Amino acid sequence: MSELNLILFGPPGAGKGTQAQFVAANNAIPQISTGDMLRDAVASGTELGRKAKAVMERGDLVSDDLILGIVRERLDRSDCRSGFILDGFPRTVAQAEALDKLLEQQGRTPARVISLRVPEDELTRRILSRGEGRADDTEEAVRNRLAVYRRETEPVLEHYGDASIQVDGLGSIDEVADRIAKELARS
Ligand code: ADP
Repeated sequence: MSELNLILFGPPGAGKGTQAQFVAANNAIPQISTGDMLRDAVASGTELGRKAKAVMERGDLVSDDLILGIVRERLDRSDCRSGFILDGFPRTVAQAEALDKLLEQQGRTPARVISLRVPEDELTRRILSRGEGRADDTEEAVRNRLAVYRRETEPVLEHYGDASIQVDGLGSIDEVADRIAKELARS
């Protein structure tokens, strides 16, 4: 059986976490959220967490080296053998290149990218109204996260070019989930 290796791509507030959970459950693959992994590390006060905390609170990106270390380790675990869905990674072109290389070196299937499209005014509205109490959900950090997305992360889409599938991220959670499921069934 071939692996279902997926990247759920999109700006902050696009609904990646929610949708990645559905895809993971429906396809029996693990959801790998670098944001969740980092927040866990911060909460449990590990060395990684101590390094990441202030960077995350500002809405900046944690260094590629740190992130690549945790992703590499995570993808090596046995539950990723039939696939995985990444959420929040890759977030820089360097991360995307490193992931491509890692999968290739291990003889694994290249990752497919599902890109959630949501207009920027809607993103800000969603993040500021979801009330999760995240340290990086202040207006200033959100503005920075969106700027960092445009500058560092959007170029990742060009890196994957035609290999990425665009999905409209507006509408209800179920509507978006249906669109993603249809795209996955198609290809
Ligand atoms: P968002 O809701 O903004 O997409 P995430 O939960 O994915 O947020 O990530 C929260 C924060 O964790 C980011 O703003 C960043 O500081 C850090 N982070 C998560 N994933 C990465 C990554 N792949 N590279 C660098 N930093 C990351």
